[in-house]
Amino acid sequence: MHFASSSSGLLFIVSAPSGVGKSTLIRSVLAECPNLKFSVSCTTRPPRPEEINGRDYVFIEKEEFLRGIDSGRFLEWAEVHGNYYGTDSRPIEEWLSAGQDVLLDIDVQGARMVRCAFPGAVTIFVLPPSFQELEERLKNRATESPEQLAVRFEAARRELFDAPWYDYVIINDDLKEAVADLAAVLRAGRCARIPQAPVLKKFLATVVGARA
Ligand code: ADP
Ligand code: 5GP
Repeated sequence: MHFASSSSGLLFIVSAPSGVGKSTLIRSVLAECPNLKFSVSCTTRPPRPEEINGRDYVFIEKEEFLRGIDSGRFLEWAEVHGNYYGTDSRPIEEWLSAGQDVLLDIDVQGARMVRCAFPGAVTIFVLPPSFQELEERLKNRATESPEQLAVRFEAARRELFDAPWYDYVIINDDLKEAVADLAAVLRAGRCARIPQAPVLKKFLATVVGARA
């Protein structure tokens, strides 16, 4: 007999201001953790040249997004930098009830909504080594117009003040270290008392029932 798995999957939420390197970090961690499901969000933002529909985002029109809001399609959604972003409920519910862990890459507004629906969610905020470095990374990525950059820097200034409300804070200075930190948080999350409760209960039942 073994007690390796708990009944429901865990929900991990990663947030960071644009340009911190969150997508880069998540891509590396997903490559190391094949059992972790990544939630591909819907967005009305136009795709960047290297982005693939269905892999990076599901790119949809605003009308479809608004219909999705009305029909209760999204677990959470938010308007970020002038575009809509949302998490489809259905795959998340299916994965979690099948015992699979899920990672959401969502902004601070979305994280607040998910925390209410899933108080057991493990929340992780990624910081840049400095605000100046965040600006450099976003400029050097060269995916945003000067107007869009200004919008994102302004949003970053606000979003950073949500960091103290997260369970874990990771600094993405050296990428390898940040990847190791995020992998460690995922592991610690799985070993926490509450997700391990079903395993512990089964184990202790065998101890109570065992003869001396
Ligand atoms: P986000 O998803 O947070 O908006 P990206 O993952 O697109 O950010 O990263 C923004 C830019 O910073 C990219 O050009 C990426 O290659 C670079 N980057 C990511 N992590 C690091 C790091 N640890 N050190 C230096 N550059 C990084
Ligand atoms: P980007 O346009 O740079 O890909 O993403 C902009 C912001 O939107 C990032 O902070 C990212 O985490 C956030 N985001 C991506 N998908 C979702 C989502 O489904 N819901 C919410 N609330 N934010 C999202």
